[in-house]
Amino acid sequence: MLLGALFLPGILAAQQTASLPALKQKATEEVDRLQTFTQQMVDQIFSFSELGFQEVETSRYITGILEKNGFQVERGVAGIPTAWVATYGTGKPVIAYITDLDCIPRASQKPGVAYHDPIVAGAPGHGEGHNSGMAVNVTAALVLKKLMAENHLAGTIKIFPGVAEELLGSKAFYVRAGLFKDVDIVLGSHVESEFSTAYGTGNGEWSGLVSVQYFFHGKAAHAASAPWEGRSALDAVELMDTGWDFRREHIRPAQRSHRVIINGGDQPNVVPSEAAVWYYFRELDYKHIKELYDLGNTIADSAAKMASTTVDHRLVGSAWPPFYNKVIAEAQHKNIEEVGMPKWSEADQTLAKALQKEIGAKVDGLKEKVEPLSEPVKNPTGGGSDDVGDISWNVPMVYLMYPANIPNLPGHSWPNAVAMATPIAHKGSTAGAKVQALTALDFLLQPQLVQAAWDYFRTVQTKDVHYETFLGADDKPAIEMNKEKMEKFAPELKKFYYDPARYKTYLEQLGIMYPTVKAQP
Ligand SMILES: [Zn+2]
Repeated sequence: MLLGALFLPGILAAQQTASLPALKQKATEEVDRLQTFTQQMVDQIFSFSELGFQEVETSRYITGILEKNGFQVERGVAGIPTAWVATYGTGKPVIAYITDLDCIPRASQKPGVAYHDPIVAGAPGHGEGHNSGMAVNVTAALVLKKLMAENHLAGTIKIFPGVAEELLGSKAFYVRAGLFKDVDIVLGSHVESEFSTAYGTGNGEWSGLVSVQYFFHGKAAHAASAPWEGRSALDAVELMDTGWDFRREHIRPAQRSHRVIINGGDQPNVVPSEAAVWYYFRELDYKHIKELYDLGNTIADSAAKMASTTVDHRLVGSAWPPFYNKVIAEAQHKNIEEVGMPKWSEADQTLAKALQKEIGAKVDGLKEKVEPLSEPVKNPTGGGSDDVGDISWNVPMVYLMYPANIPNLPGHSWPNAVAMATPIAHKGSTAGAKVQALTALDFLLQPQLVQAAWDYFRTVQTKDVHYETFLGADDKPAIEMNKEKMEKFAPELKKFYYDPARYKTYLEQLGIMYPTVKAQP
């Protein structure tokens, strides 16, 4: 106590060299000054187009920028080669930024073009818009670092990459590795077509999940001359799928489960000795997800028996349903209102409407107003998942949705890449960076707000629910995933990497007129 009393006045004096409103004003101006930097990051990462766990160029590029700017970088954390943590500053509070890096298979698309026109046919592309998140967070972090240094502000900034988010493949491992142990507040950011934040379960459209691959092993034989000698692993896969689909009728409607057959054998005249199927089991909470996981294992074992084969499985991803902190969300929402929507040009709106028309979506262009603070709904329906959920159950966290994409798109496909290296993504990322910087300042300068966020975390969020990992002791990150796909496409994609030394924008490098839309009939 005595030490605290002795040191406190000194710390307070240091923290009060500039007022919060003055620092916020300065932060907004600094983010605006970095617009070209932000645009280049958005464009550069878009051009890398790397799938989950293979974010090699992307991570090299971002950590290079951070090191050049005085951040300490630790690479290969949590047993994941493309994962890292960048740190600046000392002491409390520790504020962490996180956002995703990876892209989507087969989503290659020329930016600014309102119809399907891939850069490299069949290649991965940023059909989710994850290329913009690091531009948002790194811009905010650089501005924050400058203000902290100039004003002698105590505190630590950390930046984390959302490696392999599309595979729900990294965050449970980050948590298990203790990467968030000393973190006080987590500010996540994710691309959206709107400017919003939420707390609790938000609009209720989140599920948690386990992602599991089942490998069946049979016995090969000539499929015509001696089929009775063989035992088909593919039969077992099909029996498992049929079994699951019968059982589906008797599972809570909140479940979502889906699969792809990742190995169906080699050719019809060989009884498949190896076959594999990959399931996502989604539900609203840990208990129900765990039940689906157990049921999946039972049905797989039963199918293996029916076909006289054997089966083993591998957990390749998992995610708790996210739950966001009310105190941080309220502070963040004020900053969203303060920053406001980007000013869209006629060209931006033309692109948005042409794309909406092209894919048969509602044609209403880009959003012009920020969304109200989203309060938790009474009856969540579930939907997609994000493995930041695991972090949100360990540290007070929110997820900023910043307006860098076009509304009414299908998600996870080429239309979602169209805006992602255009002024829509550039302006939306600048707006997002402002909110990320302002919200960090709120918590850096107001220790009582950090305390309030933790009070909510302890007395409301985790009052009855306690985090348990889905990971078994032997589960390891699936770092070999996407390797072959990326090796196949990287040489082609490399020819189209953005070169900011020669071109102001990626649109300019690709020679794309903005916007490029189909002629009106
Ligand atoms: Zn995402």
